[in-house]
Amino acid sequence: MTTKIVFSKKCLDYTCPDSPETAARVGTAINFLKAKKFSFLEPEPCVDQDLFFVHDAVYVEKVKKGTIADVDSPAIDNIYEYAKLSAGAAIAAAKNSGFSLMRPPGHHVGIKGAALGVLTRGFCYFNNIAIAVRVLGKQTLILDIDGHHGNGTEEIFLGDKKVTYLSVHRAYIYPRTGQITRLNCLNFGLLDNCGAKTYLDALKKALGSLDLSKTELIAVSAGFDTQAGDLASLQLDAKTFREIGRLIGSLNKPTFFVFEGGYDGQAVGEDIDAFLRGFESKR
Ligand SMILES: [Zn+2]
Repeated sequence: MTTKIVFSKKCLDYTCPDSPETAARVGTAINFLKAKKFSFLEPEPCVDQDLFFVHDAVYVEKVKKGTIADVDSPAIDNIYEYAKLSAGAAIAAAKNSGFSLMRPPGHHVGIKGAALGVLTRGFCYFNNIAIAVRVLGKQTLILDIDGHHGNGTEEIFLGDKKVTYLSVHRAYIYPRTGQITRLNCLNFGLLDNCGAKTYLDALKKALGSLDLSKTELIAVSAGFDTQAGDLASLQLDAKTFREIGRLIGSLNKPTFFVFEGGYDGQAVGEDIDAFLRGFESKR
């Protein structure tokens, strides 16, 4: 496998109380991928300046001081450092065409915190993929395959001429945004029991509608909670993720990946393995 997994075991050191966003969801996946002989890259935290490409200074200060808390995203000790390391890992993934497999995730957090009128940040603190995209500054397609709509990413890039945001997600669940396509933010909502064929048909149609002639980079918000039984299940399995990987690989652009949702560590490991094998089979 040529795609490196960007990971630091420091991201396993904190606990989100009473939350499905556990250290095990990443730790178990990492152990699975180690056994599959993936290679790994150790990230550095991003610098404060990188955060300001995306986030409002007042919000950044609140994360630093630990004065931000909502029911999904509490003010955990040292969360500022963990969140900067996760953002730094996304930047390293962007620079090395890698897969950042870190926590906390990022796609629900907008410019000033909770995004597009949603009350919570869905386990997120800084928008890792948005920060990486802004640091590289290229003409980018952000492809969000997490089962939840990336309301934070949409808020950040709405109207940005350098970025197209495309999300395929489950409709009518948290955060309940992404029901319509606006400007450069293209949204495709699917129903909970849709299954692999409907999903893949929708993704093919969505990708087929794009003009990628000027696209220099593809950034994938790689969530795996559409897996059958997970929080945003669309009844997908590892075989479907292999096909999704193949579709993305066949776009033939420099690509990187940032982990978002996916709450069963064993399934996440198997899905990432299948997904990256599918992706690389087309390179
Ligand atoms: Zn999700």
